[in-house]
Amino acid sequence: MGSRVGRAISTGLAVLIGLSVQSAPIFAQPIDQSRLANAENSSDWLTYGRTWGEQRFSPLTQIGTASVSRLGLAWWAEFDTDHGQEATPLEADGVIYTSTAWSKVFAFDARTGRQLWSFDPQVPGVTQLATCCDVNSRGVALWMGRVYVGTLDGRLIALDAKTGRSAWAVQTTDRARPYTITGAPRVVKGLVLIGNGGAELGVRGYVSAYHADTGKLAWRFYMTPNPQGKPDHAASDKVLAAKANATWFDGAWKQTGGGGTPWDSIVYDIKTDLLFVGTGNGSPWNHTIRSQGRGDNLFLSSILALKPETGEYVWHYQTTPGDNWDYTATQQIMVADLNIGGKPRHVVMQAPKNGFFYVLDAATGELLSADKFAPWVNWATGVDMKTGRPTERPGVRYGNDAKSSTQNPGPLGAHNWKPMAFDPKTGLVFIPAQDASFTYAGAPNAQDFRYSIGVWNLGTGVQGVAGNGQAAPGAIARAAAFAAAQAKAPRPATKERAVLVAWDPVARKARWSIARDNLWASSGTLATAGGLVFQSVGHDLKALAAVTGKEVWSYDMGAPSIAAPMTYALDGIQYLAVMLGNGGGTSTGDPRRPGRLMVFRLDGKAKATPFPPVSEPPLADVRKAEASTGDPVTGGVLFRRYCAVCHSPTRVNPDLHRSQVPLSRDQFRAVVHDGALRDGGMASFAKYLDLNDVEAIRAFLIQVYPKSLTTRN
Ligand code: CA
Repeated sequence: MGSRVGRAISTGLAVLIGLSVQSAPIFAQPIDQSRLANAENSSDWLTYGRTWGEQRFSPLTQIGTASVSRLGLAWWAEFDTDHGQEATPLEADGVIYTSTAWSKVFAFDARTGRQLWSFDPQVPGVTQLATCCDVNSRGVALWMGRVYVGTLDGRLIALDAKTGRSAWAVQTTDRARPYTITGAPRVVKGLVLIGNGGAELGVRGYVSAYHADTGKLAWRFYMTPNPQGKPDHAASDKVLAAKANATWFDGAWKQTGGGGTPWDSIVYDIKTDLLFVGTGNGSPWNHTIRSQGRGDNLFLSSILALKPETGEYVWHYQTTPGDNWDYTATQQIMVADLNIGGKPRHVVMQAPKNGFFYVLDAATGELLSADKFAPWVNWATGVDMKTGRPTERPGVRYGNDAKSSTQNPGPLGAHNWKPMAFDPKTGLVFIPAQDASFTYAGAPNAQDFRYSIGVWNLGTGVQGVAGNGQAAPGAIARAAAFAAAQAKAPRPATKERAVLVAWDPVARKARWSIARDNLWASSGTLATAGGLVFQSVGHDLKALAAVTGKEVWSYDMGAPSIAAPMTYALDGIQYLAVMLGNGGGTSTGDPRRPGRLMVFRLDGKAKATPFPPVSEPPLADVRKAEASTGDPVTGGVLFRRYCAVCHSPTRVNPDLHRSQVPLSRDQFRAVVHDGALRDGGMASFAKYLDLNDVEAIRAFLIQVYPKSLTTRN
């Protein structure tokens, strides 16, 4: 990168990367188009993936293979939430900006850790009900003296970077629908880009662009057709009519909105002047219920290339046509220059949930390669390079009957939101991959599907029946029989692993990989010119040699981190920062701990206060339960339909085995029906469950105590 260095480079960076460059002293320039365009050569970390192209590769070399053994804690800070922390902090001009669970924003002196300000958007606790996977926030964006954050309840807020005071706030979503925002905004050409999530519950995905100075909407692009068949007067109207509408057939998508939510990846490429957006899964999951099992359902599970000023469509590539399995393509998109077959190619790369690593021409979307980055993936045998379509294994398309399909990956994906990093020196992409099979089961009867707004609506197993007297005649009995048959069906024993894969996108194979036993306790990655890859595993932040994967440093942080580390330099010192916090919809098995920001440097001598021991409440004593008048069979169906998505042992939400509430009829009714714990996130379910339903669920809980509450649907 030597010839390109020199423009916006600071003296500190020049020293760190071993160049003798005469340059101006450090001064705070506004974070504008030009500064973001030159972020590659900066010692700051100015946007979610460090640069617009999001390679998460830092040119800093002070922390390298030879020096990393001296890496120690420089400072740390603790947050006021014990939910999952997924954010990549940003650093600019000596200040770290980060977001935490519940979309709170914090600013710290990046040298000392002194807190400069914090901002709490006061997201209502009940918003948690609309999340698939905890109350996460993956980060903020910077532009012209402001910090931008998307909030869990769908707002986009501009904050003064000096004070944390709100400059403007807009509601980007329909509050009557279960939309959420967990992704980081990005700013390109003065427009703040923000997506949304909620496809499991039932929403219509779109990406929006707002003017950074005023908060006025510039354009919006919908990922699925308008369910009423009307124009949206949006940037997507033309291409939906031309390409997408004919790929959808009458079905439940007209109620749910079809999904396609772009909840993570929004990437800008300076060279082609294109914006790349990754889109989510179908809603409901079940293609048969959603769209009669017919059609590709554009633009689900796709990479879309749009013009940044207008949102105008340029090209798309659909990774999983007719998605049936929650195979989102919202995962990280990365812009890179590769030498393929002796020719320089400007490409985008993605490792979406479906387990294939895609390399596409950035300007045209031409598919250059698609290979399994996860050899355990078995839902498809390959991708047909002529059609660009996956070759599905027969039997994976469960539908409108009791057929099930055990396959890999499941809805967790072979790769999910955890960021990957690309080291252009070794040519390797470091993918935090996942090996987790899943048994998908269809629905007993498509006619039984009832869209319950605000809760999960998958159209699989019992995820379609309704309580509160809304179920179709006989639907509860059909669902109970179906669930009982599913529970008896033999399932292959599967081992779940997290695997760090060092993928060579030119050779189209893994150069090395490391498997870890705990699926949940591993994080996103960072690559540096110091020849290192950083990743957290369990409680440990680890440095690995990029070339071999050999571990060269490890530091016990006292609790798990799932977020990607980042790095920056100030006054000739390189720092490494990472968010600590267990959660993100899945449990590492560790107790919940307050989130922390951990910042490292060479010869750092700080010591974080050890986390106090956590004692779990005792198991509830079922012998003390008040006898129930409810029907446990109905209760089991309704528990699976409305409760299990949060209250199962693999989730971070309260373990019902340890709750005394189900032992008492009145207490259970107060919480589940009347919403006594709504501020903590446990909303009233009176909309979905009448008092008989609530008591039936209690009967089921008493019956299964102290057996496992694990349910598969
Ligand atoms: Ca999903």
